[in-house]
Amino acid sequence: MTLEDVKSLIREIPDFPKEGIGFKDITPVLKDKDAFVFSIDMLADAIKDRNADLIAGPEARGFLFGAPLAYKTGLGFVPVRKPGKLPAETVNYQYELEYGMDSLEIHKDAINKGQRVIIVDDLLATGGTIYAAAKLIEELGGIVDCILFLTELTFLNGRKKLEGYDVISLIKF
Ligand code: AMP
Repeated sequence: MTLEDVKSLIREIPDFPKEGIGFKDITPVLKDKDAFVFSIDMLADAIKDRNADLIAGPEARGFLFGAPLAYKTGLGFVPVRKPGKLPAETVNYQYELEYGMDSLEIHKDAINKGQRVIIVDDLLATGGTIYAAAKLIEELGGIVDCILFLTELTFLNGRKKLEGYDVISLIKF
C-alpha cells in the first residue's frame, strides 16, 4: 500500500453538493481496510515528532480520521461541531461562506490553557473550516501545534488562509 494507492481510491463526484463543485469522496478509502489502516498510520507518522496533547477534528469527516488517529497516537480527541450539537457550555466562531455564514463550536472545557492541539480533517479546500477550528482552540488558550490533512486541493489556496500555521497534507490534487 502506498499513498498513491490511497489517492487512486479517492473518487471525484461532479456537481456535489452543488453545480461546479468536484467533490472528493473518501468513503472508498474508509471501506478498504488496508487503505484505511495505512492512511491512519501515515497520518500518525507525520506527527510522530510533534509534542501535542490533543487531536481536534471538525465534524463529520474530521471525526473519521481524528478519532482513530487519537487512538493510534495515544492522545485525547476533541470534537469541533456545528452549532447546537455539543451539550455542555460552548464557545462559537462564526465564519463566512461563499454565500452566507456558518459557525462552529467547541466545549469551553475541552482544552486547557497552554495545551498543544493538532487539528485533523480529511481535506483542505478553502481552509475556512479549519481556520474557525484554530480560532476556537486559541480562544480557549490552546496552541495549534499543526494542522494535518489526508488530502489537499492545492488549487483552492487553503494554505494562504492558514498562513502562520504548520500545515501538513499527505495527498495533493
Ligand atoms: P474548507 O473550509 O473550504 O476548507 O472545506 C470545508 C470542508 O468541506 C472540508 O473539511 C472538507 O471535508 C469539505 N470539502 C470542501 N470541499 C470539498 C471537496 N471538493 N471535496 C470533498 N470535500 C470537500
